[in-house]
Amino acid sequence: MSDLTLGLTEAKPGPAGFSGSDPLADGNARCRWAASTLDYAVYHDSEWGRPTGDDRTLLERLCLEGFQSGLSWLTILRKREGFRAAFAGFEAAEIARFGPDDVARLLADPGIVRHRGKIEAAVANARALVEMWERGESLAGLVWAHEPARRAALSYADVPAQTPASVALSKALKRRGFRFIGPTTAYAAMQAMGVVNDHLAGCWVRDACEEERRRLALPAVPAS
Ligand SMILES: [Zn+2]
Repeated sequence: MSDLTLGLTEAKPGPAGFSGSDPLADGNARCRWAASTLDYAVYHDSEWGRPTGDDRTLLERLCLEGFQSGLSWLTILRKREGFRAAFAGFEAAEIARFGPDDVARLLADPGIVRHRGKIEAAVANARALVEMWERGESLAGLVWAHEPARRAALSYADVPAQTPASVALSKALKRRGFRFIGPTTAYAAMQAMGVVNDHLAGCWVRDACEEERRRLALPAVPAS
């Protein structure tokens, strides 16, 4: 998700008697990119930046970031259930068995982004993950091995597009057979996975992400 315009919304009181069920009117200050649509607001509040150590979730994230390349994240977000249906819920062992017939099926599926290179990249990613498991590695271990020191909240202008850690993660993934994951895409994935916390200063989700990071139990870090 490297296309988003960041900034912070103003905290403003919600309407009188408001139940709090509408994130765009609940009075919480949040990163500005999240205020443009309800889809983004819900995603921002519940997923983006929340640390995860689950390989299936991480594989889905890497594949969807690859599909996003050149498109808006909103396009991907709105097709996400279509992607999950088309890609076996992002169960790596199932995707790894996809053959030419499956690729043809996916190229005809309007529920996803029909781009042969990206589809083949997702299959390659799943195979790479299965091979990692066979070597005793985990995707979570690899991703979190590239976590930089936790830092103070940034302003919008200071949020980088890529970092030395994202360059290293990109290389480590490519070395294992992952595709469509350059340093900028890797950084966007690190933001989404909570490996870095780029909720801006004052965003109401920021502290919750830090607390979840403190509680996250990580698998052993692989050699890389
Ligand atoms: Zn935020």
